[in-house]
Amino acid sequence: HTVFATLSDRLADTFKNLRGKGRLSEADIDATAREIRIALLEADVALPVVKEFVGAVKERARSEEVSGALNPAQQIIKIVHEELVTILGGETRRLRYAKSGPTVIMLAGLQGAGKTTLAAKLALWLKEQDKTPMLVAADLQRPNAVQQLQVNGERAGVPVFAPSPGNGTGDPVEVARASIEEARRKLHDVVIIDTAGRLGVDQTLMQQAADIRDAVQPDEVLFVVDAMIGQDAVTTAQAFLDGVGFDGVVLTKLDGDARGGAALSIRSITGKPVMFASSGEKMTDFDTFHPDRMASRILD
Ligand code: GDP
Repeated sequence: HTVFATLSDRLADTFKNLRGKGRLSEADIDATAREIRIALLEADVALPVVKEFVGAVKERARSEEVSGALNPAQQIIKIVHEELVTILGGETRRLRYAKSGPTVIMLAGLQGAGKTTLAAKLALWLKEQDKTPMLVAADLQRPNAVQQLQVNGERAGVPVFAPSPGNGTGDPVEVARASIEEARRKLHDVVIIDTAGRLGVDQTLMQQAADIRDAVQPDEVLFVVDAMIGQDAVTTAQAFLDGVGFDGVVLTKLDGDARGGAALSIRSITGKPVMFASSGEKMTDFDTFHPDRMASRILD
């Protein structure tokens, strides 16, 4: 992913300096740790995360026996890889489906994060796994949001439940509530609710999202965040965690050209796993987030 391009290059340069060394001295380890620290900070990874990461790499580089099959440079790469997997969340966290009735997935996040686009991508992804999803337009804040979801729903070939007389016009909580009834009637097994976002964190918006959550009791609340917004992603995530609460994170715009440190910080800061990644304008630019594969790509 392009948001990691600079970080990948910097780390590759760091490892290049170790090539050909027979054994790493304290000074080598310190220099390497310093370079990794700078690379992560430049990538906009949050400072506490950088400190923990570099500390762990240094400690392990000093204490671990170098395995016979690896030279010192390879050993460091292995450690960095494993630590990257750890900060990215370790195991892949998959969607939890409801035991009975429709699985309810609620999306929350700032305006422009990519929620509406993501809603349709997720719906298409579910459809490809033989689910029968339904999209719900509960973003009644932004003038074009309902229509945009309808357009995206059409692209994905997934029906959209939108406010209309009888569906709770004007009230997103009522729309969300009514949508669950509709899903039961029409036998949709997954309901994806798109909610309103503002440009900045806003108490009214938080309350509205919390009210929708209380009304529909989602199986998963997913926080959708633009990987390109840097350190702000962490503050925003914290605000949503406090105001609405969420179970997992979806990173969007991993194809962007900004620094993607948010992607590496968010798990450690919020304690919530990144579950999906979205990386482009096409409906199919979307997949489950695998920490190990992501770490491999960064170190590729
Ligand atoms: P919402 O306000 O959170 O619903 O955000 P939208 O879904 O409307 O997305 C905001 C803008 O970002 C739109 O122009 C989308 O086409 C674009 N967008 C969404 N996801 C991605 C992505 O993964 N990559 C890129 N490059 N653009 C995206």
